[in-house]
Amino acid sequence: MTVSENAVTEVTDGQTIDHRASASLVEEDGLAYPFADDVPDGAQTITIAPGILWARVPLPWSLDHINIYLFDEGDSWSVVDTGARCKDGFDAWQLIEDSVLDGKPIGRVIATHMHPDHLGLAGWLVEKWDASFWTTQAEYLLANTLWLSGLGEYPESEIQHLFKAGVDRSFEDKIRAAGYGNYKKGVHKLPEQYHRMEDGREFTLGGRQWRVVIGRGHSPEHACLQCLDEPLFISGDQVLPHITSNVSVYSREPMANPLAHWISTLDRMKEVGGNPLVLPSHGRVFFGLNERVDGIIKSHIIKLGRLHEWCMEPRTTVKTFRALYRRKIEGMEFYLALGEAIAHIHLLESLGLMERELKNDVYVFTACGTYKGNELLSDINKLSGIKMRGLNTFDT
Ligand SMILES: [Zn+2]
Repeated sequence: MTVSENAVTEVTDGQTIDHRASASLVEEDGLAYPFADDVPDGAQTITIAPGILWARVPLPWSLDHINIYLFDEGDSWSVVDTGARCKDGFDAWQLIEDSVLDGKPIGRVIATHMHPDHLGLAGWLVEKWDASFWTTQAEYLLANTLWLSGLGEYPESEIQHLFKAGVDRSFEDKIRAAGYGNYKKGVHKLPEQYHRMEDGREFTLGGRQWRVVIGRGHSPEHACLQCLDEPLFISGDQVLPHITSNVSVYSREPMANPLAHWISTLDRMKEVGGNPLVLPSHGRVFFGLNERVDGIIKSHIIKLGRLHEWCMEPRTTVKTFRALYRRKIEGMEFYLALGEAIAHIHLLESLGLMERELKNDVYVFTACGTYKGNELLSDINKLSGIKMRGLNTFDT
């Protein structure tokens, strides 16, 4: 097994590493990072536990890396997430093959969800190693839908979705010229078959028992993995240490309420318990799952409060940016910001705190009722179809 120079404790006897006792533990913003500022780089991995390696694959975007995790299966490797289809991604995997895999094949590729940075190279790895592919049903089906819809022209429904949100119609030519279906650019041809991971399903990974814990809102059926033998939790994009994942309403489902799913399933992550070492898809591994979950939910509660107050005057979606974002929104970030603004509006609407009116084919929103941030979570969980089964019920 490869043990990097960065490992806090040399793994010599197959015993679990106690990262909480690590001399390198650094506390920042209520979270604790066992490897201080160390992160994997190229062929240099970090040993999380015996047989579990943390590596990084570069991304060609402002978020310039994804964490991937390699699990030693004895005669092969399992990997969680892959990076996007780009030259740096292929190069990174070649380096991993040459320096980390120790001559053993990749037998299984697991994708937490369908975003290109997570499964963009899954099909390539599956083809190359004749590996199996594991993900959830909704992620697999949506990935295929987006990939097969290809690099086509802008759908009329998407254009109308933008206009109804208050995007100026003078941008129509620019929007159409930008093209549609960028998903395919970052994703290799998808695996033709998959193994379904369902909420609560248990399976063996790297000699340990793991349980699938589904999160919703950032993507439809995002798989987090809870280790049942050791305090480890693969959080994907559901719980990141510094940034908050995008939660958007898309034209495909224009009346969706993803922020309700996001907040409710985030809160459910606290049922994992045991203060696990969290292995996120971006940033550094950390302790403080519950603190981070509470921090993310609190940031949405604050934003929703500002939005409710701002919409005492009628506003279009685009005009709510000032209440939601403290910075100027530019370029491609605009689409993420727009989707997230609609998600916040829809959550308030679903709770009876926002009313919509269609004026000249543009939605105008006006706040109503009294916003009570401290009751938000319980009110969300009362909405139909939102609250998922408790994690503790899987044990009985
Ligand atoms: Zn994602």
